[in-house]
Amino acid sequence: MIKFKHVSKKYDGNTVLDDLNLTIETGDLFVLVGPSGSGKTTTLKMINQLIKPTTGDIVIEGKNVNEYDLKELRLQMGYVLQNIALFPNLSIDENISIQLEALRRPKKERIAIAHDLLEKVGLDPEKYGRRYPHELSGGEQQRIGIIRALASTPKIILMDEPFSALDPISRNQLQELVLRLHKELQTTFVFVTHDMHEALRLGDTIAVMKKGQLQQVGSGESILSHPANSFVDTFFKNEHSENILVKDLLEHNCFSAGDENANYF
Ligand code: ADP
Repeated sequence: MIKFKHVSKKYDGNTVLDDLNLTIETGDLFVLVGPSGSGKTTTLKMINQLIKPTTGDIVIEGKNVNEYDLKELRLQMGYVLQNIALFPNLSIDENISIQLEALRRPKKERIAIAHDLLEKVGLDPEKYGRRYPHELSGGEQQRIGIIRALASTPKIILMDEPFSALDPISRNQLQELVLRLHKELQTTFVFVTHDMHEALRLGDTIAVMKKGQLQQVGSGESILSHPANSFVDTFFKNEHSENILVKDLLEHNCFSAGDENANYF
């Protein structure tokens, strides 16, 4: 279980997360949804300690995240981003098994795991394992990003807008893949998106955020039938929720979070 207890985050005096209280149950497919700039990525990155709260606590399996060894904590988590940035000079097999190398697992075992995972996502291991990232399409690369996150059998998978740069067909296929993998692995998934359709499709539990504050948490069904306030109602009912996104972007002059991901692995 992951618990946020009265978590706030300020940058230069500006509050971007405001007294967040949140429980993510073990094994849940938990989706954080809201307009751009509402604090979703900040929340996600607190789970793997890429960002630390200004005040409040994050507790994972009963232990405060500060008490974990950082390397050990991150090895227990898979992390998938929008631009997954595979290592260009490593083969697909090597990319998938990079965390296993950090765990000093023998090469034979690493390749076997990589091939198993390639098969899981419908890519022929003999053909794809030896290729390099530039020889794969965007959708295929994103598939590799997902299975790379699974290679060390992490307890928690964090996904930050992983499919927003993809065409609708690839996005649809990869959403299917996430649903299938979640069912098979029964691991905790925390998935960030600004797209309410994606949230409704994937989320067992959905948390709706606006301007650093949690608006509502519940199943898609319960949120649609009993929206907590007019913001949630509009966000989910408006077929063109991108309008809210644009309005919010203009209002808050948002920029995307820095480049803390560069040295993640
Ligand atoms: P979301 O993921 O919902 O788009 P973020 O968590 O990325 O939102 O950002 C929330 C707010 O925090 C935004 O207003 C953003 O501009 C601000 N923010 C994010 N990272 C930084 C940073 N490193 N310095 C200052 N402000 C930041």
